Amino acid sequence: MSVRNVLVVGGGFTGLTAAIALAQRGVDVTVVDKVRAWARVGHGLTIQGNALRVFRELGVLEEILGDAFPEEDGITLFLADGTELAHLDTPRTGGPDLPPTIGALRPDVHGALVRKAEAEGVAFRLGTELVSFETVGATASATLSDGTTSEWDLVIVAEGIHSRSRAALGITEQVASSGLGIWRAVTSRKPDMRGGIAFPLGSGGAYKVGYTPVSETHCYVFVLCEPQRTANDLADWQEVRRLMAGFHGEFDFLRESIHEDTFLNFQEIEWIFVAGPWHRGRVLALGEAVHAIPPLVAQGAALCVEDALLLARHVTAEGDLEEQLAAFHARRVPRIKGVVDATLLLAEWEQRPGTPDADPGRVMDEALQALIPAP
Ligand SMILES: Cc1cc2nc3c(=O)[nH]c(=O)nc-3n(C[C@H](O)[C@H](O)[C@H](O)COP(=O)(O)OP(=O)(O)OC[C@H]3O[C@@H](n4cnc5c(N)ncnc54)[C@H](O)[C@@H]3O)c2cc1C
Repeated sequence: MSVRNVLVVGGGFTGLTAAIALAQRGVDVTVVDKVRAWARVGHGLTIQGNALRVFRELGVLEEILGDAFPEEDGITLFLADGTELAHLDTPRTGGPDLPPTIGALRPDVHGALVRKAEAEGVAFRLGTELVSFETVGATASATLSDGTTSEWDLVIVAEGIHSRSRAALGITEQVASSGLGIWRAVTSRKPDMRGGIAFPLGSGGAYKVGYTPVSETHCYVFVLCEPQRTANDLADWQEVRRLMAGFHGEFDFLRESIHEDTFLNFQEIEWIFVAGPWHRGRVLALGEAVHAIPPLVAQGAALCVEDALLLARHVTAEGDLEEQLAAFHARRVPRIKGVVDATLLLAEWEQRPGTPDADPGRVMDEALQALIPAP
């Protein structure tokens, strides 16, 4: 086996999945994260079958499904006046025996991964940042914010899209704006509301609005809009209502359920894709640190956890570590690039309604179909 002890920097979905998969293969793993405590509240996520396939292999699927809402029925597309446009089946990217998607709350999925990592013997040091690193011979030396310096067979940088360590790995790609912004809210739904996306009939409000059930009683709502929050005197919940004002049918109920205590936030949607090497010596960047995509096909977390499991397989296989890392990278890049290209095209069409030959349904379907074969 090439690696025996690994430092994972960042305890998001990428870092935790890597930590669990490595620990299950006999590797001694420590996870550091700059947060002092894990978040207890958070937004909803659509998690697709190819992520569930990874969670099944980690042995954490049942717990995640226990807190989630499986979505077997695909998604309904509406016009803003509430008229049903079409119904899309979501490809079963995890294979025929897993739901195509589930709706879940981020802290529930994260909590299940943390508990599994602890059960597998992973050590955690919260409130600790990676400060610097260098490769010395066959080991990586990492200095942390607690003042300690230690040696590792491999350091995995899973710091997310705003990774500070990425540049120190010689990666020059920069984070870019997608031209879109997004509001997200967790709110109540009626039992017969099964998930949908609505497209505007006029301009001035949201580019589109969608929702995904996360339980029998709740859903998360997303409102796609311009990349900067509109400058006005409205409180956040009032601004979301304003953006949703032209959306009716099921969206009337959702809009009215958003009030001053609703958990919501706004962010500009950014992206990055690193096609070149993700590692230098014994330090490697993974997950959103090297590929963050606009959430227009809901594949972000799925691609991250695929990365992590596949990496664990490669670095614990027999053979030269450099060759294993190169082989890992060669397997990941084409698969991820297909999704990146699709989401950037979708983001462009969101901003230019009426683009001739725009066919978002086809582009989404093709991108997801390509992920059905396991990576
Ligand atoms: C608006 C939005 C909606 C999304 N919706 C979906 C969806 O529906 N479905 C889906 O699959 N994906 C979705 N995604 C994408 C998904 O959230 C990400 O792909 C995934 O969370 C990235 O995981 P990560 O572990 O790579 O990074 P992160 O979740 O960002 O985790 C990075 C961790 O590293 C820590 N850290 C950073 N720097 C340091 C340091 N120097 N030292 C120590 N710790 C450090 C941070 O505290 C953090 O805990 C969405 C993304 C956005 C922005």
